[in-house]
Amino acid sequence: MRIAIVGLGLIGGSLALKLTEAGYSVWGISRNPATCQEALERRAVQGCGTELAQLTLFNPQVVVICTPLEQVLATLAGLVPYLSPQTVVSDVGSVKQPIVGPATALWPLFVGGHPMAGKTLQGIQGAEANLFLGRPYVLTPIPQTQPQALAVMQELVAAVGAEVVLADPVRHDQAVAWVSHLPVMVGAGLIAAVSQEENSNILALARTLASSGFRDTSRVGGGIPQLGLEMARYNRQALLAALRGYQAELKALEQLIEGEQWEELLQKLQRVRQEWQQFPVNQGAP
Ligand code: NAP
Repeated sequence: MRIAIVGLGLIGGSLALKLTEAGYSVWGISRNPATCQEALERRAVQGCGTELAQLTLFNPQVVVICTPLEQVLATLAGLVPYLSPQTVVSDVGSVKQPIVGPATALWPLFVGGHPMAGKTLQGIQGAEANLFLGRPYVLTPIPQTQPQALAVMQELVAAVGAEVVLADPVRHDQAVAWVSHLPVMVGAGLIAAVSQEENSNILALARTLASSGFRDTSRVGGGIPQLGLEMARYNRQALLAALRGYQAELKALEQLIEGEQWEELLQKLQRVRQEWQQFPVNQGAP
């Protein structure tokens, strides 16, 4: 199968590396000739161009748009003149509702996608073939989605070693608001709160003492600012609901501590530990 990746950044580059490794014929499109050069040198792609029009030479059966979220629809609109009618198109954007309906109207063989994998690096330099291994990869069909297009994307998701999860765009956006977008804001808030410590000696000591607990709870807050911004901008309502739920929980914890309600606090933390174990990603964790 011939697959084109538009936007050879962290996610696009990683998809290209893995799909090439899996034996697919992969082409890339990047605005930047140096990125194309690097993708060719790393054998992520067999061919690479800087213009969407060059895709007519490759005639892909699948195109995956891996640009920043705000560019997905414009990129698809730019692609349409160069696609053959059977080409399946997908994206990897972290928010789905603003994308999937309009994209399907532009191209009936569109299937929304979102790999639940990432790093705090940007660009093809951070790309790695095994980024998606064993990770959930959400496909977000809507009633207008063509079953044959969905089947093609299910095959590709399996080929990159990820686990297909099907969800409609609204449910997807609400779920990722809780487990992906809220943690970014919580991590950002945590780092900002610690950093406002006025006593410079205490702040310096806190930085020295910060260990795995701080690293785990702050990591995503210190990630790529543009990704946090796109989550907030495009998933605003669901993220606000999650932030308010989180604030209510923080308030409840604060009140238990303020009231020295140690028994209730212990019971709460015991319940939380059980809930923590319900997340597959935490199973087997210490
Ligand atoms: P990235 O490393 O910055 O890559 C983005 C790519 O898009 C780059 O190759 C860049 O290409 C291209 N690009 C940037 N601005 C563009 C524009 N105005 N028009 C056309 N192309 C443009 O970012 P990424 O982390 O791979 O994120 C890409 C997508 O993946 C986003 O939609 C994001 O929501 C989604 N995603 C990210 C993560 C994550 O953790 N990083 C996880 C899941 C999903 P040039 O080489 O052309 O400059």
